[in-house]
Amino acid sequence: MFDKILIANRGEIALRVIRACREMGIQSVAVHSTADADAMHVRMADESVCIGPPSGTHSYLSIPAIISACEITGAQAIHPGYGFLSENANFVQIVEDHGLTFIGPTAEHIRVMGDKITAKDTMKDLGVPCVPGSDGGVPDLETAKKIGEDIGYPVIIKATAGGGGRGMKVAKTAADMEQAFMTARAEGKAAFGNDEVYIEKYLTTPRHIEIQVFGDGKGNAVHLGERDCSLQRRHQKVFEEAPGPCITPEERARIGKTCAEAVAKINYIGAGTIEFLYEKGEFYFIEMNTRLQVEHPVTESIFGVDLVREQIRVAEGLPMSFSQDDLEINGHSIEVRINAEKLPNFSPCPGRITQYHAPGGLGVRVDSALYDGYSIPPYYDSLIGKLIVHGRDRPEALARLSRALGELIVDGVDTTVPLFHALLEEKDIHTGEYNIHWLEHWLETNLGNA
Ligand code: ADP
Repeated sequence: MFDKILIANRGEIALRVIRACREMGIQSVAVHSTADADAMHVRMADESVCIGPPSGTHSYLSIPAIISACEITGAQAIHPGYGFLSENANFVQIVEDHGLTFIGPTAEHIRVMGDKITAKDTMKDLGVPCVPGSDGGVPDLETAKKIGEDIGYPVIIKATAGGGGRGMKVAKTAADMEQAFMTARAEGKAAFGNDEVYIEKYLTTPRHIEIQVFGDGKGNAVHLGERDCSLQRRHQKVFEEAPGPCITPEERARIGKTCAEAVAKINYIGAGTIEFLYEKGEFYFIEMNTRLQVEHPVTESIFGVDLVREQIRVAEGLPMSFSQDDLEINGHSIEVRINAEKLPNFSPCPGRITQYHAPGGLGVRVDSALYDGYSIPPYYDSLIGKLIVHGRDRPEALARLSRALGELIVDGVDTTVPLFHALLEEKDIHTGEYNIHWLEHWLETNLGNA
């Protein structure tokens, strides 16, 4: 058993891991930049180590500083949370070379899934359905144009190293190809140091459906159903729910089984998410995330499991505490991401929280590192909290969300809360009829947001 775990992250996800550690009787070590000296994760952990200046590059992304913090405190394992070093295969290798345990998949799995072309090839070989498109990388514009003609416009050009919605460009017609191809390549190069791109058919009305999988690294794996994350702005999720309002039990069982079998075959260890676009009853793989997702709480709510606890267990070599037969869906859960951002343009809005009150009551969970008087630093992600509700069914979850949002007070900075109040007035949100473009259209119509 681990006695002490270091959490290489900050904010709500660091708290999330500290909470799991405490329930398991494991000591926790927080790391922080100088800008986060007063942060909640530092206060809540058993120990803390300052690992550098405010800039993420020199603190939360500094591998030597994090390894040193483990050595100073005697932590035996590192939980990476999401973002920062969570999908950095080189980091995993270094952690292992130092005799420490990385709580997550192997460096090799991260490497394979981190390159989208390799990931797609691997998934195709494992029997997972993929979006039609180029076979691997597309070397030049001429080939790109030929592929565009073959699969038919619109198409999307994607950087193989892309992530966070960057390095993707749509070509609606052949006339757009040159610009889209060149821009996707340039973005891939600038943001990820890799200009290789590939092409996919651009689906016009899909939903974003992702399957939560979990493996023990010994050839056993389960799926924990789907999450529908179709409400997105600039390819970033803002509202997530489980189960998906449009997925039937048969579809869930079928795609879930395919995904669980695929990850079992590669001896996957820990939590993973296989993302799909879903259109007209068909699933199309787009990518796999080899880490805990921001939206994992909706899955935890409907299955009554603690995914972080399971991550720690399998990293210790223990079996998962559930089998596929134990996993039964109970009710409906929705998460909204509360960002310190000013509408209508979603510009970051760091600053001091003058008053904070978290909602409570039956079926309400708040994962947030806020407190009264806290100053949100300007250096990091604008996510300041997640409000997660659970109800016996979708209408009950929506009513609970509305009630809980009404109780939430975050004063001193602008947040995305008004967006959710407005969305809850929309008929389509209640009927569940939306696709990945719905929110962008709504923002344009209602907020004049471009
Ligand atoms: P990232 O790694 O940047 O998150 P993804 O490949 O996961 O990129 O895609 C993010 C989002 O982009 C999807 O949820 C979807 O909204 C959109 N998208 C990606 N591929 C396609 C496609 N082939 N057709 C239509 N939309 C797509």
